[in-house]
Parts: sequence; structure tokens; C-alpha cells
Amino acid sequence: MTTHLSPGRGAVYPGFLDAHVHLALIDPVMLPSGGIARVLDLGGWLPDGPRPSMPDLAYAHQFVTVPGGYPSRADWAEPAWTCAVSGAADAAGAVDLQAAAGASVLKITLNSEAGPVLGGEALLALVGRAHHRGLPVVAHAEGAGEAERAFSAGVDAFAHTPFSERLGDDLVNAMAGRMTWISTLDIHGWGSRTAAFEIASDNLRRFHGSGGRVLYGTDLGNGPLRLGLNLREIVALLGAGLTPDDVLAALCSSAPLGLTVADTRVTFVPGERPRDPGAFADWLVTARALTRPELEELA
Ligand SMILES: [Zn+2]
Repeated sequence: MTTHLSPGRGAVYPGFLDAHVHLALIDPVMLPSGGIARVLDLGGWLPDGPRPSMPDLAYAHQFVTVPGGYPSRADWAEPAWTCAVSGAADAAGAVDLQAAAGASVLKITLNSEAGPVLGGEALLALVGRAHHRGLPVVAHAEGAGEAERAFSAGVDAFAHTPFSERLGDDLVNAMAGRMTWISTLDIHGWGSRTAAFEIASDNLRRFHGSGGRVLYGTDLGNGPLRLGLNLREIVALLGAGLTPDDVLAALCSSAPLGLTVADTRVTFVPGERPRDPGAFADWLVTARALTRPELEELA
């Protein structure tokens, strides 16, 4: 970073990343003015031509599941957004389809609350093929035991902090050794505390405390969320034991899940970073993402 701002003008960070977004459900060009420079799309989206005002991004393309599995029956998901795998024999083809569409991450769903889920052999075959193709695997795990099944099969990341049950300390410790969790705490109630919010916050507190990697993510596109940084998500991360510096690390990962995401923008937060941690979140959400020429104009 070569731009020097005069003292008090603001802070400049690597472009903030929202690691769980559904671009097909929002107006993505609004995100940079809300502080988000980079996104990871976790299902339902394909590039529709060059648009310079888009955030930088990586994407998963389809949700890979079983016939009738989540989210194929959800009202917000179009039929073409899911890829159904009947058994292990279909797994390689399903992964190759996503890679051919430009996906750099595989999104699988294991939601036993909403329908049938992938069996053990199909799950292993999907993870094996994805890793063979260099794609990290992100799972939506929901329902008793699904997070543990995903972890045991070699899944790299959770699209949501596990929220169906309190995971045991030993399991959380093991997960912290090799997984990344995308936070999405605020989806549980959007500000009104729910049981799932408390469970997820407790799991995340121990995961982070054991050294697990956390990425800021909001599931933007589902629910009443601002197009940009979500104040409640940041407050929830602080509430789960992340320090302000930890929150910045969760937003600024240079290679989330080992992926290369372009970084044509930085994130600029006007004014001085408050010393009081209680004022940090309110300050941070005034951020906006700027191209480097836009930043130069400020300097
Ligand atoms: Zn999602």
C-alpha cells in the first residue's frame, strides 16, 4: 500500500470480504459503497458479462445435493441452481460440471431438516474429486450430526457456523485444526436472539479460541440485510470473543480457503479507529470500498 492519508483522515485495509453471498438474489453493484470489496458466492450465480462496478469475486455455481435435497424445494432457489447427485458414481461428473462453469469452490448441502442428504460414499467421492480438481469444499451442514459427518468426510469449510447443536469440545478442537468457518451468526433472528444464535455463538467462541480460522460472512441475499457490511454480524463476532483485530482478520483474508480472489479495491474507513472496542463496530460499518485511483483522490 503506497497511499498515505493524512492522520485522522481514515484507515485503509485490504478489501473486505463477505465469504457467504448469493449475488443472484441482490444488486451486487451496491456492495462496494457498503464497504464490501470482495465476495464468495455460495450458490446460484454465474457471471453474466463484465460489469466493472461488481465486487471482486469467486463462486461455487450450483448447490450440490441429492435429488430432492436442500435447497431444491426452497422458494428462493431456482431449479437450475441445484445439481443432484444420486450416488458416488455421479460425483465426479457433478464436480466437473461446476469446474467447467468457472467455479473455484464446491458448495455441498447436508441439511437433514429440509430433505434427504448425501450418503457417506457420495460425500466422500465429491470431496475427493473436488480436492483432486483443486477446489475447496464448503458445506451447509444442518441437522443433528451433519457437521460432524461433513468434517469426517474432509470438508474444508462450513458456510454457516454450526447452529443445530452444541458441538463437543473435542470435536470443535479437531475442526479448529483444519477447517474454516464462515460466521453468519446474524441470520439467526436478525437481531432478535434465538436459540440457534446462542448455539452458533457458543460453537464459534470455542472454535476461535482453539485457533480455528473464521471468515466474516452474512448469507447476503437471504433475509433483510443491508447491501454492505452488517453491523449486527460484527457485533455478534465481538460477542463470540473475537477482538476488533480478529474481526479485521476475518474480513481481510488474502487467500480465503486458499483461493485467489482478485483485489482491485481496498476498504477505506473514514476517521480515526476508536480506542474504545465498544465503538469499533459502529465505526467500521461506515467503510466503503474504493479502487486505488479513487483512494488516490482522497489522499
Ligand atoms: Zn447461503
